[in-house]
Formats: sequence, structure tokens, C-alpha cells
Amino acid sequence: MKTGINWQSRINPVVREIPSSGIRRFFDLAAEMKGVISLGVGEPDFVTPWHIREACMYSLEKGYTMYTSNQGLLELREEIARDLAESYGVIYDPRSEILITVGVSEGLDLALRTVVCPGDEVLIPDPSYVSYAPCASLAGARPVYLPTSVENGFQVTAEMVEKAVTPKTKALVMCYPNNPTGATIDRQLLMEIAEVVKYHDLIVISDEIYDKLTYVGEHTCMSSLPGMRDRTILLNGFSKAYAMTGWRVGYAAGNGDFIAAMKKIHQYTMLCAPITAQVAAVEALKNGKPGMKKMVEHYNRRRRLVLQAFQEIGLPCFEPRGAFYAFPDIRVTGLSSEEFARQLLQEEKVAVVPGSAFGVQGEGYVRCSYAASVEELSEAFKRMNSFVGRRVNR
Ligand code: PLP
Repeated sequence: MKTGINWQSRINPVVREIPSSGIRRFFDLAAEMKGVISLGVGEPDFVTPWHIREACMYSLEKGYTMYTSNQGLLELREEIARDLAESYGVIYDPRSEILITVGVSEGLDLALRTVVCPGDEVLIPDPSYVSYAPCASLAGARPVYLPTSVENGFQVTAEMVEKAVTPKTKALVMCYPNNPTGATIDRQLLMEIAEVVKYHDLIVISDEIYDKLTYVGEHTCMSSLPGMRDRTILLNGFSKAYAMTGWRVGYAAGNGDFIAAMKKIHQYTMLCAPITAQVAAVEALKNGKPGMKKMVEHYNRRRRLVLQAFQEIGLPCFEPRGAFYAFPDIRVTGLSSEEFARQLLQEEKVAVVPGSAFGVQGEGYVRCSYAASVEELSEAFKRMNSFVGRRVNR
């Protein structure tokens, strides 16, 4: 009789083979050390504004501790519909075209699982946020990468999409402003991509979590382009713009049939986003815009400081126009991005994320989040300067 179980053999090979998140790996390493300045995690350093926390506390006082409907609080869906109409002129029916999710993370997973059949292909920009490819694989799809580079401003182009499309392609994932590069995308490019998407009858999963964190030019919402509203699953949330990462609330907006299908999965898996977070999100949308704009001004100031610092250190850095990441080119040091991040952490106690965590095209770069205080950033750059100085003749 067998006594032990070989658990490795019981794990679905797809799960076994997806990599652990490169962000979390460095986050965990840094957490074990004392005196580390973390530019590693993409998380606002602000706590959620007080009036939002207070709205949540009052809701608890009133006894709001139950499930909400699977689709989420109607009041929140109505506020989201108002916000999307005001910001982008796109009209959604809050009763059938908006689903409240447990962050953009759940929205992404649901959208992929809803659209993908085993063996389908999903187009994913490289570099891009660490979850896209693993979530596509877990849904049964094959991720197909669209290689962007600093030469084209880390922007996806219509030609890239056209070249990558096959009869198996089902969806294109887009994310601008972009994590990890901070790139935004020109409206003209987005319109050209939309034409290719329509021609090949694809859908777009558009992660717009950094839309409000746009410092140069104006953000174009994919759904607002002609003919794209019904082809786009718009994902957004409250984590970044309203400093609400821990609340776990976001939403998907799109075609009613598709949203209903996503809701079918959601009703058996998550049931609903936490009611406390949904109440807080209503308050964020109703009264949180002035506070949000102030946080964005802070990020923008830090963005300029960071660009200046990299120039002084001697690491070429692409100008980020959105999100809160800088993506300096570290190749002059002769180190791989993994070695750079590891040695910087060990020698100077500064945590950054190797660009390779975001795709092959991220090699040669590291991601530095500037959602940290000016004091922390100044100290981190002092340390980085010594680190680079020991490796480069300046
Ligand atoms: N999408 C992008 C591009 C992100 O950078 C992140 C978090 O870093 C997420 C989604 C996850 O968002 P949420 O907290 O809403 O699940």
C-alpha cells in the first residue's frame, strides 16, 4: 500500500509550468531584510483618503456585512456608468453592461476564461503586466507576444497585430498607460489597431487601470473609438487612482451578452466583491476626484525627479508618460536585469523588479516604481548611484 502522495504529479501541468510572479519574488526577498527601500511593488504609498475609509466605517455601523448581488451594488454600477460617460463619452447600461469584480485581476481572469477555448491564441504586448500571459494559459489559450521596444516608445502597432493574427486568434490584451514601461499610446496608433481588430473580428481586453495617471497628453479609451464599444471589454478599478489596492474592487464594462457570460463564472467563484469595498468605491467616485488629482500631481512631480536622477546616474531612461513606473536601461552595467536587481538589493538594499519579469523584451531594463516618498526616492537614487558607479567608468 502506498503511504505518501506525490503532490507534484497531482498538480495540473499548466499550473506547474506558469512562473511565479517576478514582482512577488523580489517583494518577498525584500520583506526578509531590514532597511530596504522598495521601488518594487506597484502600489500607491498613500493610504486611501479619509472620507472613503469613513464611508466604509459608517456602512459597517449600519450593518452592511452581507453579500451584494452577483453583479455588484447598483449604486456603484450607476456611478461607474456616469464616470465613463463623463470621462470618455461612452454610454453603458448599469443594469446589464457593467459587472463589479474583485479588482481588475478578477476582471482579467473572467474576460479571458469567457472568450477563450482550448488552443486559442491571445495577443499580449511584451513587455507587459505579469498576469496577462499566465491568466491566458490558465484559460487554455496560447499567449502570443507583440514585441515592443524603446525605439517605438513601447507602443503596440497595427502592423504588429496584423503580423501576429492567425485563424486561432481570439483576443488582444491592451494596457496603456503601461506597466512596466509607463508608456502611453498615441490615439492615431490606437485607431489603426482598432481597424485591424475589426477586420479580423477580434475582441480587445483593455486594462485601463492607469487611465487617470496620465501626465502627458490625454488618455484615449479603446471603447470610445468608432465601432469599438461592442468589441472591447473595458477593465478598470480603484487600486491605483484612489490608492485602494487592498480593498479589492474593480469592474468590467462591455457588451451585455459578454458581461452576462462573465457574470456566470463570477457567480460560482467570487459571488461578489466585498460589500465594504463597493460602498467605499461609490464614495471614491462621488467625492474622490479632487483627492485623486492631488495624488496624481505628486506622482507627476516624482516622475520628473526620477527622470532627472537617472540622467545623473547615467542610466538612459525612456520618458514615462503615465502610470507610476520608470523603466531605465541598465545594459551599461553589463548585468542582466535579474543580476542587477539581486545585487542592488544585496549591496544597497534597494528593491526594483527585473525587466525580464515582464517578458523577453524587458531584458536589459528594471522597473522602478516612483509611488514612494520624495525622501525615499532621493535615498534610493543615492544608493543606486553608488551601485552603478562601482560598475561603470563615468
Ligand atoms: N493591471 C495592471 C496593469 C496592474 O499593474 C495591476 C496591479 O499592479 C493590476 C491590473 C491589478 O489590479 P487590481 O488591484 O485592480 O486587481
